[in-house]
Amino acid sequence: MAENITVERDQQGQPNKGKVFAAVHAHLDDVPYYAGGLCAKLIREGYTGYLIRTSNDEKRGGGTAAENILSNEQEHVKVAAALGFADTFDFYYQNHEMNNISSLDLRARLILLFRMLKVDTVVTFNPWGQLEENPDHWVTGRAVEEACWMAGVETDYPEHMEAGHAPKTVTERYYFYARPGQPYNRVVEIGAHVEKKIDSIVECRAQGGGNEGSLLRARLAKQGKRLPLLGNDDRTADRAYVRQFLLDRYQEFGAEHGLSYAERFFYIDHRPPAKSKVEEYVERNAVSL
Ligand SMILES: [Zn+2]
Repeated sequence: MAENITVERDQQGQPNKGKVFAAVHAHLDDVPYYAGGLCAKLIREGYTGYLIRTSNDEKRGGGTAAENILSNEQEHVKVAAALGFADTFDFYYQNHEMNNISSLDLRARLILLFRMLKVDTVVTFNPWGQLEENPDHWVTGRAVEEACWMAGVETDYPEHMEAGHAPKTVTERYYFYARPGQPYNRVVEIGAHVEKKIDSIVECRAQGGGNEGSLLRARLAKQGKRLPLLGNDDRTADRAYVRQFLLDRYQEFGAEHGLSYAERFFYIDHRPPAKSKVEEYVERNAVSL
């Protein structure tokens, strides 16, 4: 892998102004961990971002299924705000059981959103990511991959056109590096965006360890102790805990390339060239009749 890595640096200004991306994850804490830095970077560089969550997260949160659905839903809105997303969508498929849903249903819902939002770029799971144990992840990734090209085909769901949503091919993809051993060809510099990544992770309290710092601070206080690292309030404790204990892998990904923090992705560029082969050939070779 190592010889084909591109390092995507932070860019000045807003080179992506006018472009739209959708980050599609299954669970509250997927995007914050796998791609929080990238999403903050893309938005800073001019992209409009939308955050789509496919599962209902009912299995995580420490409460009943209904309580977990609610806490994850509320925290999802906070995660999106922390990273600068324009809006969130939640599909509420049953958590951990997405390999038994209709992939066509999921795909069709994504196609409608990609057309409606005019999505240029997606950030999601590697659809073929080996070593992936969570069915919600690969089911989501595969449906996104199919929807990316099919959203541009006018004969798929032609009623969308009658509803005013033109075909729209999604041409760029960033697939998460979610498990060790999954492929990646792009390392994204996120040093300038790590505070936002931390802001998004501390909102993941139902799952994702966002409140571990304040919990540890309270536990120590009961024993008559404190850690200077955790400061004097819960928010400071949560942020400090994330920075100290939960970002090691992103520091390691960066260190290999001389960066403070980085995230890894498998990036695919399907943007058409400015001029097609045929156009170029005609330009060079056409003669008068
Ligand atoms: Zn997940």
